[in-house]
Amino acid sequence: MQFDDDAGLDTSQVQDERGSRIPGGGVTIGGGIVGLVALVLGLFFGIGPQELGLTSEPAPGGTARSDAQVGRDCRTGQDANAREDCRIVAVVNSAQSFWSQEFARRSAAYTPASTVFFTGQVRTACGAASSAVGPFYCPADRKVYLDLGFFNELRTKFGASGGPFAQAYVVAHEYGHHVQNLMGTLGRSEDRRTGAGSNAVKVELQADCYAGVWARHATTTPEKSTGRPLVKQLTKADIDDGLSAAAAVGDDRIQEKFQGRVTPESWTHGSAAQRQQWFNTGYSTGDMARCNTFR
Ligand SMILES: [Zn+2]
Repeated sequence: MQFDDDAGLDTSQVQDERGSRIPGGGVTIGGGIVGLVALVLGLFFGIGPQELGLTSEPAPGGTARSDAQVGRDCRTGQDANAREDCRIVAVVNSAQSFWSQEFARRSAAYTPASTVFFTGQVRTACGAASSAVGPFYCPADRKVYLDLGFFNELRTKFGASGGPFAQAYVVAHEYGHHVQNLMGTLGRSEDRRTGAGSNAVKVELQADCYAGVWARHATTTPEKSTGRPLVKQLTKADIDDGLSAAAAVGDDRIQEKFQGRVTPESWTHGSAAQRQQWFNTGYSTGDMARCNTFR
């Protein structure tokens, strides 16, 4: 994955809260290891942590402090080619350029969504959350929350190949949820049902498909500022990294790894094969209308 060295990055789309502490509050997660596993299974790449019993407890001291590194260090595509955090800024920029143009083409209005970088724990309009839940989108404040430490886990804990585009896939999936939120389809997963044929799974697979749609158009979507695409090159190896990540977070893979058996009735995101298939559908067609996982 190569970015245009000379392109400027729009860091206003990212809130850098790494290294900041939640003032007067910590986060505890009920249920110990069992709870943690449920959390991983339940929310991985998911939507809003509120239904998972996250509770907030007073913790001593701590003042909010932001390093705001990205605003300082992530200026150009060259920075995005060199640094992981700047790369995520670039992916956020590229994804939102694409979706705003795609919405405009459909005479719809795209409202940008910020991505919040955090470490450890974060407070959101959907409740307090810890890094353990993985990246997620909160519909109530329309923000994507991301602890960059997750990308190491993607490789070490979940067995994905890693690589820059694996990260891009994760970010693009979360922006897929934002697109669903704007289109009114996100709410379909709120019936609290799980299972291979559930709305929860269909919503997740559609977000994978939307990630693929963005990937198809990433190298041809011009930035407003330069008239040139921010993403200069995506190779087959990049797409394979994305597919590897999609498979690694399939419900069947995660269940096999963490609970030792596969129970499709509790799926919330779809199997490895489904997630790859829907990313591919989006990528090969480049057409969001083909992402109708509800059909
Ligand atoms: Zn998701």
